[in-house]
Amino acid sequence: MKNAILIKGKEKQPLNKHSYIFSGAVEKIDSDIAPGEVVCVRTHEGKFIAYGHYNPTSGIVIRLLEWNENKHVNESWFREKILSSIALRKSLFDSKDTDSFRLIFSEGDFLPGLIVDKFADTLVLQSHTSGMDKEKSAIVKILTEEIASITCIYEKSDGDGRKMEGLSNSAGVLFGIMPDKVMIRENGIKYKIDITSQKTGFYADQRNNRALLKKYIKKDDSVLDLFSFTGGFGLTTALNGAGEITLCDSSAEAIAAAKVNFRLNGLDDPEAAEKDCFDYIRELHREKRQFDIIILDPPKLMPKKNDAIKAMRAYKDLNFNTMRLVKKGGIMFTFSCSGNFTPEMFKEMIAYSAKDSGRTVQILEQLHQASDHPVSVSVPETEYLKGLVLRVL
Ligand code: SAH
Repeated sequence: MKNAILIKGKEKQPLNKHSYIFSGAVEKIDSDIAPGEVVCVRTHEGKFIAYGHYNPTSGIVIRLLEWNENKHVNESWFREKILSSIALRKSLFDSKDTDSFRLIFSEGDFLPGLIVDKFADTLVLQSHTSGMDKEKSAIVKILTEEIASITCIYEKSDGDGRKMEGLSNSAGVLFGIMPDKVMIRENGIKYKIDITSQKTGFYADQRNNRALLKKYIKKDDSVLDLFSFTGGFGLTTALNGAGEITLCDSSAEAIAAAKVNFRLNGLDDPEAAEKDCFDYIRELHREKRQFDIIILDPPKLMPKKNDAIKAMRAYKDLNFNTMRLVKKGGIMFTFSCSGNFTPEMFKEMIAYSAKDSGRTVQILEQLHQASDHPVSVSVPETEYLKGLVLRVL
């Protein structure tokens, strides 16, 4: 096996089981290593640290996989990791209520670069590294052998991560027959999802937060669901006694999908604005409209670490303008899915938004990604979704 030797002093993080080796940390590396090949990472003195996937094109030149020198990264290694992921999900969900979840969450499940979402009997696989690209057929084989009910595995490898790895997008059926749409259940609510749409087709990371929302709904409450996508938050309120529901999303497909989901659960169509939320919240303010409950769940507004000022402005713009739309004593669920935007920055931004909107705001609960998106204690980057339940006076 080829070796990579780290610069003296750069061994601390990898020895603490953080997965990333940045190119600047490598002193010497053997030649002729193919992208995606497993290499052995050693300290300056030549002591074994871990095995990892190599990619010369990426800023993260090696992603560490295994810290036990006697264990080799082969099919049985992948099987062990995948079985552990499956076992966790088995313990988390009652399939009567929820048949869809993230089955493998990259570093959070000790498989850096691999994401697999399970939607009923369909799996959507995303590979974000050349290492995982190379292992794809072994992974598909293991998944089909270990989960008997699977009828399709669809690959949807895209996004900024692949760009940074120098990889082009890859999509298509890896196993079975591709369904037109997939019917799923989450928290007892039915959804029809399109796995070829945004991301893998559904945001399972908000499951617990959607369930928690039930507790805050009073009969006939008015609700505004901003960045509504497939409508999960709005739908939860509608099924639990809320009155008028308004959705907003800039994607026509998302609005259409949300309406289908309302009908699927025996509800009438909600009011739905196919608009830019940044504009729409200003429009609602001019119309003097206010709501009892507002959900604000924007896409990632801080994709890079050095985007802090821009991100602070964007989150503040959204939260400040949304706070003005909450009725006195009303509730706001506000989120950031940018891992780079820290919980401290998030709360600071909320404090500024409260001050500038002239509202008095209390934090009632602090929210996180659901447990099928486990956080690796050694890789803090795996903690990305944060949310606050606010009471706005
Ligand atoms: N709340 C959703 C997930 C939101 S994902 C859920 O529970 O499933 C982010 C959504 O924001 C996507 O549907 C995307 O279409 C939408 N979006 C992105 N930028 C937008 C903008 N500027 N205005 C309105 N919607 C936007």
